[in-house]
Amino acid sequence: MNKVTIIAGPCSVESREQIIRIAKKLKELGVDYLRGGCFKPRTDPDTFQGLGELGLDYLIEAKEITGLPIVTELMTVEQVRKYARYIDIIQIGARNMYNYDLLKEVGKLDKPVLLKRGLSATYKEWLLACKYITNNGNNKVILCERGIRTFEGETRNTLDIEAVPYIKHNSNFKIYVDPSHASGKRYMIEPLSLAAVAAGCDGLEIEVHDEPDKAFTDKEQAITPDELSKIMKIINKYM
Ligand code: PEP
Ligand code: MN
Repeated sequence: MNKVTIIAGPCSVESREQIIRIAKKLKELGVDYLRGGCFKPRTDPDTFQGLGELGLDYLIEAKEITGLPIVTELMTVEQVRKYARYIDIIQIGARNMYNYDLLKEVGKLDKPVLLKRGLSATYKEWLLACKYITNNGNNKVILCERGIRTFEGETRNTLDIEAVPYIKHNSNFKIYVDPSHASGKRYMIEPLSLAAVAAGCDGLEIEVHDEPDKAFTDKEQAITPDELSKIMKIINKYM
């Protein structure tokens, strides 16, 4: 395990070959978890919606081949009942932070849940959402700051770095940062990752693709394995 946990992988699982190829590269770099979206909460219903169960099969195969544990988002209670057992960290996406039935369902599990901050959620709302999980018995909650809506339109969202010390000071949960969805821009991933680490985050979730320009989803924010390697080296040098 890296001192700052590194979750990396493509926004979406696109094919068997794609996820296995990327997983092998990430394994070489020493990342801790492989991410890949299978059930995708897309803003535009006419865009790629993820491979669903087939994508999860490919992600599980990538885990079997590389030994990397996997992180993926589940969007419904039914999906949690059916698939949670195969996944190492269940991601609850920003759009579902207020889906209380879903939170209660993952609360019944004995496995880590990565709860992303809602698009405009206050810290209080976010911590109350956590409580829906912990009240059902699951204390393995990790919070993930992924940028919030502000008046700024040049970046996808605005990374709220204050979330890191706030959550550390006011809760016992681990706090990860996702610079990819926060900025939506490749060139910001390195500086934002370093800022998050300097602020004291416990982990980073970063979108990585070996052919970023060909990514089916979120290609503007995908970095290459080489770029991730550089970020990890800087972090490891100073930690
Ligand atoms: C994701 O991590 O794939 C994702 C959709 O992120 P968010 O829920 O933060 O938008
Ligand atoms: Mn994405």
